[in-house]
Amino acid sequence: MTDTIRYDRGDDGIVVLTLDDPRRGANTMNDAYVASMEATVSRLEAERDQITGVIITSAKNSWFAGGDLDQLGSVPADRGQDVFDLSTRVKGQLRRLETLGKPVVAAINGSALGGGLELALSCHRRIALNNPKTEIGLPEVTLGLLPAGGGVVRTVRLLGLVNALTQVLLQGTRHRIAAALKLGLVDQVVDTPEELIAAAREWIAANPAAAQPWDTKGYKIPGGTPSTPALASMLPAFPANLRKQLKGAFYPAPRNILSAAVEGAQVDVDNAFVIETRYFVELVTGPVAKNMIKAFFFDLNEVSQRDIGEVPPITKVAVLGAGMMGAAIAYVCARAGLPVVLRDVSLEGAVRGKGYSEKIVAKDIGRGRISEDKGRALLDLITATDQVADLAGADLVIEAVFEDPALKHKVFAEIEGIVAPDALLCSNTSTLPITALADGVQRQADFIGLHFFSPVDKMPLVEVIKGEKTSDLTVRRALDVVRRLRKTPIVVNDSRGFFTSRVIGTFTNEGIAMLAEGVAPASIEQASSQAGYPAPVLQLMDELTLTLPRKIRNEYRAAASAAGQQWEAHPADEVIDRMIDEFGRPGRSGGAGFYEYADGRRTGLWAGLSTFAKPDVSIPFEDLKERMLFIEAIETVKCLDEGVLLSVAEANIGSIFGIGYPGWTGGVLQYINQYEGGLPGFVARARQLAERYGDRFTPPPLLIAKADAGEIFA
Ligand code: NAD
Repeated sequence: MTDTIRYDRGDDGIVVLTLDDPRRGANTMNDAYVASMEATVSRLEAERDQITGVIITSAKNSWFAGGDLDQLGSVPADRGQDVFDLSTRVKGQLRRLETLGKPVVAAINGSALGGGLELALSCHRRIALNNPKTEIGLPEVTLGLLPAGGGVVRTVRLLGLVNALTQVLLQGTRHRIAAALKLGLVDQVVDTPEELIAAAREWIAANPAAAQPWDTKGYKIPGGTPSTPALASMLPAFPANLRKQLKGAFYPAPRNILSAAVEGAQVDVDNAFVIETRYFVELVTGPVAKNMIKAFFFDLNEVSQRDIGEVPPITKVAVLGAGMMGAAIAYVCARAGLPVVLRDVSLEGAVRGKGYSEKIVAKDIGRGRISEDKGRALLDLITATDQVADLAGADLVIEAVFEDPALKHKVFAEIEGIVAPDALLCSNTSTLPITALADGVQRQADFIGLHFFSPVDKMPLVEVIKGEKTSDLTVRRALDVVRRLRKTPIVVNDSRGFFTSRVIGTFTNEGIAMLAEGVAPASIEQASSQAGYPAPVLQLMDELTLTLPRKIRNEYRAAASAAGQQWEAHPADEVIDRMIDEFGRPGRSGGAGFYEYADGRRTGLWAGLSTFAKPDVSIPFEDLKERMLFIEAIETVKCLDEGVLLSVAEANIGSIFGIGYPGWTGGVLQYINQYEGGLPGFVARARQLAERYGDRFTPPPLLIAKADAGEIFA
């Protein structure tokens, strides 16, 4: 087995352990590590009398990257005992290290995340090299796991229950060095690699009898145990607060972390380790961690690490329309260091659009996130104008004017002769087919959809839409832009609403259809939250405004009739029409929607929704939840079948990062794969929903064919 830890004992008796997995770019907690650590700890114990101390450092850019996700993402449900044994062994090694009876120092020369920080926590002192890129934390929760190398037990004992839970464990926060020092995850920070080892040696010399606080007589957990009155009165609030994060019962990791921390704080260290392992085994053998690891690690890598090849550089961006989207797109371009000309019909409108960036920059300066100089430099990159002549020479055009094809044609016609002759021409339309929009430009091969999501500076996804005439080079140039803006792209083929708008529309329509059936609005909201959606469905519809689905519906209907196709009304249509026409409640921007608003703030569901209530309606709550998850999954399969979607990974990543499909599922197609009974189980349930609620749930042919063939979406 490969040796991943180098062992060097100097004349002074100090052993320097260098983490250096020769087969990988980063050190991970794989089988080779476990074997190497076993041998290392045994040797330290055998040579104990000749040793004065131990320094652990790394030969890689990161110190230690943590668990091996290849392994963790594929543990079968019936291998729980094996995981328990392995985890116990890994923990046992770290326990032997911290009870060696000699000072052990972690000389942290790069990021220590997950298993990496757990190794560091089992050392008596953590000294870190001051590097702005270094991250320290236990992000396991973001993959549906908990840190099972003693991370829960030791952070609770080091920082106290409240800090360990809120600052480290429950959010999986990745701390920069300064924050890690302040919190107490790191004890000391030095500026150079030489100082790092020197400081470690110094500390060893000064602390020959180092031991962990929890192995020291009289030790008490900071802030007390769950039976300490002050803490006891706080803890009951934790599960309630967690509910917000858990979004229903589907995310088991935060719940298990809380249990492991609280139960572990009431017993001795060794029993606490066992408790931690049990809660870990439950997570790692269950479906949610597997889904999340697949989505957040494998699928994300697949879509973000595309080969783009050589493309011409971007030197000047023209953003057309300085409204909500244009203003924010200008900001992310400037943030990436690109000069931007932001154009609107009036100078006043353009200046207002630049104001969006000014606000963010002022806030960031106020919070110390960027310096005043950097903030000013960012703002200097944005020129607000009403003059098309100012767009001369731009090699990237992003159009974000009103959603009106004629207007979009007009603004492209205005600028095409002014910008660079080979400028990339992008539209941020959220629904209009790209091929038809491209009819308005001379260079149709250079035209492409670049669909950002609101709020642009926070949402990580960009949907790149290929029109019929879009060239491959144009696609690669668009991907290069997205990467430059530090976002994740999915590439789809053209269709009305593309992938994201089309699928999210089925979700909002489903919620509204329930209202039409007479379901209590609070139950609808609760069902979507419990299914794991980031925002309740009616609340989301208010944000998007009810006029939007109506406009899209009218466009669809017109397109269907032009193509001689049948148009089918949706049960949500009538509710939407009445909300707008009869009650004058088009959504948040109109000051009233499914919710009431006071001074722009949401105050509660509108009592008038009782108009739609039916006293005798009785729909199982499980159906309410699954109808939303199913309708989006079924529409996605249709997108795949029609060639709108090009890959399963793009469907999964696009659904989570673009349109808020619940992360616990691993994405919209993974939801189908993992449904109880697999694809046949999903098909059977879809048929049942179709019988109860309408043909829109009828499983599409591709789904049935895959289920019959025993395949999954992969
Ligand atoms: P908006 O109404 O906030 O802004 C549109 C801006 O375009 C206005 O400032 C308007 O003055 C300007 N404009 C109109 N005619 C112009 C012209 N001839 N030249 C220059 N500017 C002109 O709209 P928005 O929400 O920012 O949406 C813009 C586009 O982005 C639409 O196509 C929309 O579908 C799409 N989109 C919106 C969202 C969203 O969440 N709002 C998300 C993704 C995509």
